[in-house]
Amino acid sequence: MKKYFFDPISPNFDVFVDYITKLNDKVEQYIKTNMARVPSSITEKYSDLLEDENLSEKGEDLDAVFSRLAYYSQGLIRWNHPGALINVNPPASIPSTVASSYFSLYTPNGAQDMSTGYLLTTELAVVKMLSQLAGIDYKQSGGYFTFGGKSTNIHAIKHGLQRISKDYATNGLSGNIITFSSTQGHPCHAEACNWLGIGDKNCVRISTNKMGEINLEELEQAMSFAIEHGKKIACITVNGGTTIQMTIDPIKKVVDIRDRLVKKYNLEYIPRIHVDSVIGWVWLFFKDYDFNTNPLNFSNNALQKLKRQMLRISEIKYADSFGVDFHKTGFAPYLSSVYITKDKTEIFEQNHYKGISYDELEYGNYSPFQYTLELSRPLNGPLAAYVNLKTFGITGFQKIIGNLMDTSEYLKELLNNTGRFEVINDNDSDGFVTLFVAKETKDSPSFFELNNLSAAEIEQFGQYSYKFYLFLLEKQKKGECWFAIDYSTGYHRLSDGKKLGVLKAYPMTPYFDKKAAEKLVKDVMIFQQEFDKVKDTFVVKEVPHKPRPFVYR
Ligand SMILES: *Cc1c(COP(=O)(O)O)cnc(C)c1O
Repeated sequence: MKKYFFDPISPNFDVFVDYITKLNDKVEQYIKTNMARVPSSITEKYSDLLEDENLSEKGEDLDAVFSRLAYYSQGLIRWNHPGALINVNPPASIPSTVASSYFSLYTPNGAQDMSTGYLLTTELAVVKMLSQLAGIDYKQSGGYFTFGGKSTNIHAIKHGLQRISKDYATNGLSGNIITFSSTQGHPCHAEACNWLGIGDKNCVRISTNKMGEINLEELEQAMSFAIEHGKKIACITVNGGTTIQMTIDPIKKVVDIRDRLVKKYNLEYIPRIHVDSVIGWVWLFFKDYDFNTNPLNFSNNALQKLKRQMLRISEIKYADSFGVDFHKTGFAPYLSSVYITKDKTEIFEQNHYKGISYDELEYGNYSPFQYTLELSRPLNGPLAAYVNLKTFGITGFQKIIGNLMDTSEYLKELLNNTGRFEVINDNDSDGFVTLFVAKETKDSPSFFELNNLSAAEIEQFGQYSYKFYLFLLEKQKKGECWFAIDYSTGYHRLSDGKKLGVLKAYPMTPYFDKKAAEKLVKDVMIFQQEFDKVKDTFVVKEVPHKPRPFVYR
């Protein structure tokens, strides 16, 4: 079996390279470079596939095992492709993937530094760089990598609970706990309460204004009401860039409300404020961008949006903690999430660990496992994040994110110019996702006039976009459509409060440039003309995956 292991005496690195090349050769056979999704001929259900999946006595040939892996790559979305427009799923940069994969050969365990050499410096360095970026004191702040943005939210609430009861680590939950988020907040804000034994019903969702920002008056009233009824507020989770609209709540104003209520009610604890910035942290890179001379030549629309987002997220320094997902807007492979807290002593409570100050940390005493949720810890996240931060630098991130903004503004303009598509999130989102509807004719009403129509007419309007989405899915399956856009299920509320599903184009790759946007709109128009010929009788047959359901409710 030695042949499968890295030779310690005469390093056989060529075997590693050889195997990677082999795997790549096999996967490439399934790829069509002009398609975002790897074509798939698999029709069986998992139960059928699993019929062939059994342990063998002697082990199989690596070649056969790799062939099987390549076979399973059918249907895979290639996020580097400009046609991959489904979700916040970035292509991972090559350097970050190399660092993450390469060091896996040495299985460094991030539980403590003793066996990992100085590689854990990358975790400390990322925490320092992010603290500086956020404008907080990196000698007082602390943080660590953990298993996803969801985990960063779990940590925030846990640390909020510690503030409520000083003996939380020993005795567990006490009191009547409540947390706050907004209706635009991620589902995991409530799921975190579920995991922590608070119950997801105790994540109260505050309504939002037209821009999707949390209603401050309602928040203050709800917090006051909770306090007056004996509840303890573990955490207010503020949006620092929601998943689709990329909405950033007024962070400072929420902090002011919190501070006011602490005084007014003479609270013995300070309710935690956490910014779920797993997506929106990336606008921090623009805090020193010269918006006047605009050295990277972003279009005016993109520039204004970038500036607004930067100003909003720069208030992150007033919060107690925040989260960052490098596997989202940091272009690293999974998983690469960081939780950062302004006061590092708060992360040491676990196991009653005393903690070590910034200046006293040295090789041999950095032992995150003493206080992290994980014991064994992968180093893939810190390595990948570190490599991207270092190699891209501030300007590199400005270029990637700025160009996504720029190209998206261009895409919106092109779509609107067709007269057959209407962009619906231009005025309520400063992000780079395009939400739009397909219109049956040029004279169809605007999305914003739908409330003048009857429910049946609105349904028909919505069905047209929905069926077009199904039509495109079928074309994808047939290998006739190179891009994969999504159907956003009822994100958008009409003014009567009802939700209607719309089309979504979520670009994430630096390869999504103006040319790609032009080709996208040109082809989407051609497909629409084809669709119009069959729309009355169209029934979707072949699809790459189970489609999302139609939404009008
Ligand atoms: C993706 C996302 C999460 C969850 O993060 P994971 O890394 O998927 O666990 C939380 N909040 C927001 C706003 C997100 O977009």
